[in-house]
Amino acid sequence: MSQLRRLPATGRLLQESPLAELTGLYGRQATRVQTARVLDALRGEIATGIDDEELEDRIRGIPELVRAALEAEAPPLRRVLNATGIFLHTNLGRAPLPRPVVDDLRDRLDAYCDLEMDLGSGRRTDRSLRVESLLVTLTGAEAALVVNNNAAALVLALSTQACGREVILSRSELVEIGGSFRIPDILRASGARLVEVGTTNRTRLADYERAVRPATSLVLKVFASNFRIRGFAEQVPATRLADFAHRHDLPLLVDEGSGVIGPHAAPALRRHESFRDLIEAGCDLVCGSGDKVLGGPQAGVIVGRRSFVDQLRKSPLYRALRPGRLVLTALDAVLRRHLAAQRMPIEALWDETGESRRRVERMAARLGGRAIRGDAYLGGGAAPDQAIKGWVLALDAPAKTAARLRTGEPPVVGYQRRGRLILDLRTVDPADDEALAMAVGQALR
Ligand SMILES: *Cc1c(COP(=O)(O)O)cnc(C)c1O
Repeated sequence: MSQLRRLPATGRLLQESPLAELTGLYGRQATRVQTARVLDALRGEIATGIDDEELEDRIRGIPELVRAALEAEAPPLRRVLNATGIFLHTNLGRAPLPRPVVDDLRDRLDAYCDLEMDLGSGRRTDRSLRVESLLVTLTGAEAALVVNNNAAALVLALSTQACGREVILSRSELVEIGGSFRIPDILRASGARLVEVGTTNRTRLADYERAVRPATSLVLKVFASNFRIRGFAEQVPATRLADFAHRHDLPLLVDEGSGVIGPHAAPALRRHESFRDLIEAGCDLVCGSGDKVLGGPQAGVIVGRRSFVDQLRKSPLYRALRPGRLVLTALDAVLRRHLAAQRMPIEALWDETGESRRRVERMAARLGGRAIRGDAYLGGGAAPDQAIKGWVLALDAPAKTAARLRTGEPPVVGYQRRGRLILDLRTVDPADDEALAMAVGQALR
């Protein structure tokens, strides 16, 4: 069979470009397996009859098929244009890191670094001293600690302070943050017993007072990140809750959630109590996420009184939850930007000037859509009821266009509203406008 003999050998294919590059990306073994599969499929086609010209086409297409098969088995993370208008989109990786931070990380990540060594004395030091002192400066707290995410921060704090004992929490704060994060479950996992007080809409200080017993170990306050209770509602503010806790010699732990560490420029966060506010109000421990409003890598940030923070640090759980140098290096760089009052990427994105409307109109004219009014949101469990008013691009496109956009190059994620495809440019870096226009043009074609 002369056609079969025209098929290249696997070994030769793997040595030549472009399969040789794929072996670098996916490993020799995986590339060999997929190449063999593609060749097998071609043999099958030959057996059922294929003309010579078609066969030549198929042979030229082998590398592309192998690449597609490898990507389908282990698809790499891709850079995505977020046109959802949700600045901190958990499914899209939350906060983008500032470009200067990423550039600056390189020379410490592809080499050794003084992670746990004091270069002056040659002695061992704590790996998180740097970020801790930055957090202390930024929040006014006595001490700080960093773990892998905010869920870990809560588990560490609760299991250290409240294992086998009772934790008082308002019924309005029994929240679910995301599918796998529910406050009652976190308490249970920490070995703490939940004591609910008040009602869904109203909880008063007297409710907390009635719940104090010898078994009480801690008072917990959780920010209602992703919803609001409005109307006939009442909550005890942090300052009064701190006074109450201290009168009973109990610590107050606040899950702030979004990692707003100091006063914030975003209008949507004007009334959000920051880490700094909460520490000033007398809270003993405050925790939040590193990759939400803080704008850093995924991390759980804890600040508070030294005696409590030191207990967390001594817990064997801390050793299991502490972050690696990738996270610590990025967090360090991001906190230094906060200290220097430098803008974070998401702050640049929501800058509300007339320019953003003109930008939508330009894009609309180019792509045959319309600029209409639309709301953006901070996301990531911050200011859920604060719509950021502005303009979005509306395209009359069938639903399948959205799917084509998501799988295009670069992938673009928008949303569907009343049969139209909406793209919110406020969450897209203007430097990506050209790429977005090209991707949309492709998907519409
Ligand atoms: C986001 C959030 C969490 C979970 O934080 P992760 O860093 O995702 O673990 C917990 N509590 C609140 C109030 C939040 O907003």
